[in-house]
Amino acid sequence: MSETSPKLRAQLDGIPTYRPGKPAAADGPVAYKLSSNENPYPPLPGVMEAAVAAAQGFNRYPDMACTGLVNELAERFGVPVSHVATGTGSVGVAQQLIQATCDPGDEVVYAWRSFEAYPIITQVNGAVSVKVPLTDGEVHDLDAMAEAITDRTRLVFVCNPNNPTGTVVRRAELERFLDRVPSDVLVVLDEAYREFIRDTEVPDGIELYRDRPNVAVLRTFSKAYGLAGLRVGFAVGHEPVAAALRKTAVPFGVSQVAQEAAIASLRAEDALLGRVGALVAERTRVQEALAEQGWTVPESQANFVWLRLGERTLDFAAACDKAGVVVRPFAGEGVRVTIGETEGNDLFLKAAGEFRAGL
Ligand code: PMP
Repeated sequence: MSETSPKLRAQLDGIPTYRPGKPAAADGPVAYKLSSNENPYPPLPGVMEAAVAAAQGFNRYPDMACTGLVNELAERFGVPVSHVATGTGSVGVAQQLIQATCDPGDEVVYAWRSFEAYPIITQVNGAVSVKVPLTDGEVHDLDAMAEAITDRTRLVFVCNPNNPTGTVVRRAELERFLDRVPSDVLVVLDEAYREFIRDTEVPDGIELYRDRPNVAVLRTFSKAYGLAGLRVGFAVGHEPVAAALRKTAVPFGVSQVAQEAAIASLRAEDALLGRVGALVAERTRVQEALAEQGWTVPESQANFVWLRLGERTLDFAAACDKAGVVVRPFAGEGVRVTIGETEGNDLFLKAAGEFRAGL
């Protein structure tokens, strides 16, 4: 037997590991998981029933084209069916977008810090990350991003609101940026947290994409809709982009359970709006309480808040752990805290207040 191991791509060396939010501890005090930007609510009305009914058929492959869901989405957003493409969560679709645009060595531009999957999916596909630092106000620096585009750039992510800072870019600056991007570079507006936006100056990417063939919008059922565990997201983009997404999709990637649950969730809009409204109210309460405690928190338009803690990040996260709330630390940078159920948010605020008092 030979001693050599299979040759693996050198490109895989040094890929950062995606760190999922820590689960809440099973022992000890009641613990709240505020580390993964999940929705704390149970499925929307009718969704469990649709999922259970679909599960009866899981000896069969799902509808590979996600026909029912794609039709429903096209109608919902007033876009052609051919402009909608689904995938295994919006992170799956984001990866497909890189596969669809980048040859080895091509560049992907994005803000940093932003969604931690961007560097991973870029490097896995042999492309090169160009990270553009956020401004001092923790916002995308769109001018610097436009300047970072070279003739190797194939794709630009704009995460709006940005994960993990919750900050947004507004209509005028985003349009100005889109006007500067060469028409052969795809701009992906990652709107995973779209439903939580209350700032009316933040544009809806689906309006911006309509007359811009180089713009695609990413959305997900994982956050506001509460289907994170079912893995279904989608992109809206012009026909060549959407067609390329169909080519790069893992065959049968989106289960029938996910497809039916997503359709049922879209049909439960009233309940959805109620829940999102409650989370937004909690977001306001948490932000105001943090400000009162003396923290500087960038205004969040998502279902989480960001505390820049620098060297104190891990200590802060440990203090939260001890108080029964699990948050998401980015060592040396800061902590992202998901807005969860009221009791969890209260526990977090108590821990934050005590930490602050001890500084
Ligand atoms: N985009 C952003 C900005 C996110 O924060 C996330 C989830 N953390 C995703 C995409 C991916 O979500 P999903 O794959 O569950 O749709």
